This record gives sequence, structure tokens and C-alpha cells, in this order.
Amino acid sequence: MASSATPPQPSGSTNFIKQIIEADIASGKNNGRVATRFPPEPNGYLHIGHAKSICLNFGLAKEFGGACHLRFDDTDPAKESMEYVESIQQDVRWLGFDWQGRRFFASDYFEALYDFAVSLIRRGKAYVDHLSADEIRDYRGTLTAPGRNSPYRERSIEENMELFQRMRAGEFRDGECVLRAKIDMASPNIVLRDPTLYRIKHVHHYRTGGTWCIYPMYDFTHCLSDMMEGITHSICTLEFENNRALYDWVLGALETPCHPQQIEFARLNLSYTVLSKRKLIELVERGIVSGWDDPRMPTISGYRRRGYTPEALRSFCDRIGVARADSTVDIGLLEHCLREDLNKRAPRFMAVLQPLKVTLVNYPEGREEELEAVNNPEDPSMGSRRVPFSREIYIEREDFLEDPPRKFFRLAPGREVRLRYAYFIRCEEVVKDPTSGEVTELRCTYDPTTRGGDAPDGRRVQGTLHWVSAAHAAPAEVRLYDHLFMRENPGEVEEGRHFTDYVNPGSLKVLQGCRVEPSLANAAPGSHCQFERIGYFCADPKESRPGRPVFNRSATLKDTWAKIAKQVKGR
Ligand code: ATP
Ligand code: MG
Repeated sequence: MASSATPPQPSGSTNFIKQIIEADIASGKNNGRVATRFPPEPNGYLHIGHAKSICLNFGLAKEFGGACHLRFDDTDPAKESMEYVESIQQDVRWLGFDWQGRRFFASDYFEALYDFAVSLIRRGKAYVDHLSADEIRDYRGTLTAPGRNSPYRERSIEENMELFQRMRAGEFRDGECVLRAKIDMASPNIVLRDPTLYRIKHVHHYRTGGTWCIYPMYDFTHCLSDMMEGITHSICTLEFENNRALYDWVLGALETPCHPQQIEFARLNLSYTVLSKRKLIELVERGIVSGWDDPRMPTISGYRRRGYTPEALRSFCDRIGVARADSTVDIGLLEHCLREDLNKRAPRFMAVLQPLKVTLVNYPEGREEELEAVNNPEDPSMGSRRVPFSREIYIEREDFLEDPPRKFFRLAPGREVRLRYAYFIRCEEVVKDPTSGEVTELRCTYDPTTRGGDAPDGRRVQGTLHWVSAAHAAPAEVRLYDHLFMRENPGEVEEGRHFTDYVNPGSLKVLQGCRVEPSLANAAPGSHCQFERIGYFCADPKESRPGRPVFNRSATLKDTWAKIAKQVKGR
């Protein structure tokens, strides 16, 4: 259990960013206008941390009648691609948000950004530096020691203009020189020690092709993109706190007509999960998972494939709230949000994961009947269905024990249990494989007077089992997922170890030969259901086929969060 579990907050609750915006509106700042943006770098798929930022930015725009832009921060061409752009758009839409045509690319601003850089040079606030990357690092100083000025710092404006033009024209090799802001090499904030604004990269860009061989840095691009788009509140995660001074310096130095406000919040950390893109890419590239949409991945596409709903993810983001202090959220809360959603909406079915054959010896051969089953007791409007029943059925292997401990209330020799929606049955005989000793079949009797699951004489049974009719059930593959990492904090890596050492070898169990109710044989890919007594499942959107369904376990039925929430309350 994560130590700093955030207790659930009521939805629609306030946070410090809302309070800032409310105050800005009240004071007439930005003429009361609110514009936010979600600025992903298209160098990977979106994850649950991004969902927090998406819900926050789009949510604020919606709440305050403003706009939220989707802006691709695509200034590092070597790592970016259109595949990522498309997946990001799909994921934002799937989460339920709409940028209403306001989709932008930083690369569309390359010409304008170049002009701003020229303007900085003209103002004597930027220079071309020929120090190598190592030298720049060396000259930068440390937290305790001030930096030193580059020998190229005092070049004339004319010389800088000419060199910057030649950088653009491709006259220099990668790394031969950079454009730096001229701020203060002794600043206590290292970010302000003449940061690099442009570097040379002779790399093809997936959108601008070979047009550019110089690319602007994040700190230069971001504030100016915000400014040009008229963003009012530029919300980012805490690691950019020190960069705020640079954000403000660039806009101030250029005397831009509008000046968005950067506000930082704590990024989401989730127990048993890594959320660094670099690590996620490694999991994909090394084949540790099947892809970005592997149902164990904390990506939006992974959750979608696992059977998470946009409602559950939004509800999670709403409850974790927005704060200024880093914390780790318990993954149990995420699962709780899913259960809460699916409990109300997912129709229930019976499925047997590890079938054990049961023959009802007193049930007439060749007879079959249909029994009425409720689709979801939480929602009567979901109605009922008819489930076939016959002489041979399957029950779950683990629902029978030959020699049961005292608290085992399921089937055992001589015991009577209820078959859900059907009859009471009693185990009369256990058939075993003569060589292995494995139980291969149970021979039971059923009580015809208990149809529907109640005995007219009022006698009770302690267990109710799910089952399927052997002749009618459809075969299915079921994939059981568990946390991808065995450790609560896989990001904290012990010496000599690598984070992939903590991958849970039991995070995926594939069960072949499962049997499901016939009505699930053609389950629509992506559809959700509950297997009674087992968990929530989703027909795999990619691999499920009519007649050969594949189900991913989205969550078990055991809600650890409900327990944790109680403990937090009681503290
Ligand atoms: P990396 O993992 O490589 O540092 P990133 O996660 O910051 O990259 P971006 O594409 O730059 O990736 O993120 C887009 C937006 O999502 C940024 O505004 C960033 O602050 C936000 N974001 C990213 N991770 C989280 C997180 N864990 N919690 C909240 N917001 C996040
Ligand atoms: Mg980033």
C-alpha cells in the first residue's frame, strides 16, 4: 500500500489552480478569458500521467468557458513520428475531450521562432557560442559555484547575426555551435546561466522534412508557442519550476504583447507502475511487453485494451486531485474507479476458466431447458437472458475439494450447493484418472424442485457456484493480468539492478480451454462484462473473433481500495 494514498475527493472539488484562475477572472486579467493547452511531445504513447494533465487542462477550459489547445511539441525530430501524433489524438478523443479544431504543432512556428531568435540577437540578448557541449557543461558551474562566461559571449550583434544565419544555412556540423541566451552565468538558478536556445541537428523532421537543420529548445519554444496561441494559463509539472524564470525571461526580453502564466503541479506517480516514457519505450523495444497497447502497460491504449473505460480514468483523475507536492497514488484507487463504473454498467455472465465436468445422473439424457438469468442486479433495466442447462455441465475446478477445510463452502463429496439461476446439486461420486489420480468428473444428482435456485422446503446451502452447459458453452481464451511490476516503487532501483529486473513474471497468465455462456461466443471486441464471481473482463479489441472470443481480465472483484479508504479515514 502506498504511504501517501490520497483519499477520494468529491468530484467538482476545487484546487489551487482553479483558485488562481478564479482570481484572474475576478480581477479582469486576460479580459476574463481562459485558454489552456495540452502539449505532448510525439515521442511515445500517452500514459495515465498524461491523462491527469489532459483532464486538468481540458477540464479547466470547459469549467471556465474557455478553450484547450492540443499542441504537439515536436522540436526533437530524431525521436518523434506521425505514429505517435495519431495515437495521441486517438487517446485524447477516446478519453472524451475535443480540441475543437485547435490542433497546433510547434514545428509550424519554426519560421516565427527563428524571427524571435533574430530579434533577441538584435537586442543583444543572444549569442552564437562555439564551445563544445562538454565545455558548456564545464563553464556552467554548479549549485554552489557560479559559472564562467564563454569566450564567445561578447561577440558583436552583427557577427552573431551572420553566424546564426549561417547556422540556419547548414554551414556548420552538428554540435559545432549553438545559439545561447545572454542572461547571467552567476545566476543562482542554473537554468538562467545562458541556456541554449537553438542547436544544430542535420536530421529529417517528420513534418518539415529537410527545411531545417537548426531546432529550437523546449524552453524557447514553449513560452513563445503559448504566447502566439494566446494561452492564458500554461500548466505543467513541477520539474519545470526552475524553468519558469526562463519562460518569463524570454517573453520579457522580447516584450511580447501577451504573457501567459506558467503554473506547476505535481505529476502523477502510481504504485507498481513506471510512467517515464524512456522506460516505457524500453519495455516495448525489448519485447518485455507486446507493444504500447499491451494490457499491462500504463498507457491509455493499454488501459483501453485491458477494458478500462474513459469514465473510470476520468473519475480517477478527478479523485486524485491536483496538488503542489509529489505523492504516489495507490493503484488500488485506479482499479476501484473501474470497478465502480463497470459494476453498474457491465452485464454479467457465467464463464468457467478451469472447467471440471459434472454429470447430473438423474437429469434425463437429451433434455435441455433454458433458465432465466439477471443481466445486472445493480440495474434492473438491463433485463435478463436465458441460459441453457443440460445433463452435463462444467463448474470451476477450484470450486470442488475432495477433502475440504472447515471454511470451504463449495462442493465436496456428499455436499449440496446451488448452481446459480438453476438447481441444487449434490456430489455423489468422484471420478478420477486411474493413473494420475486427478479428478476428471463429478457425478451429482440435482433436485428438480429447486428450479431457479430455491428449495420449496426452505433448506439452505452455503455455496452458490457458476457453471455452463457443456453442450452449449463456447470455448474461449482468457488472459489474466496482474501488476507489471512486483515492487511498489519500481522506479527506485537498487544498486546493480535495472528496473526491468522487477517485472512480475506472473503478470500475464493465458488460459486456454475456458468455457463461456453461449451468449458470449460472439462478444463484440472491446465490450465489457463481468464473469460472475471472477472479475471484470473485456473482449480483446484486437484478437477476439466471433466464435473464438478472447477475454482480458480488466480487474478482479476484490476491491482493496475500499479497505484502504477506510483505514485512511480512521487515521
Ligand atoms: P518524459 O516522461 O519523457 O519526461 P513527459 O511525460 O513530460 O516526458 P510530454 O509529452 O512532454 O511527456 O508530456 C506532455 C504533458 O503531460 C506535459 O505537460 C507534462 O507535464 C504532462 N505529464 C507528463 N507526465 C505526467 C505525469 N506523470 N503526471 C501529470 N502530468 C504529466
Ligand atoms: Mg516533457
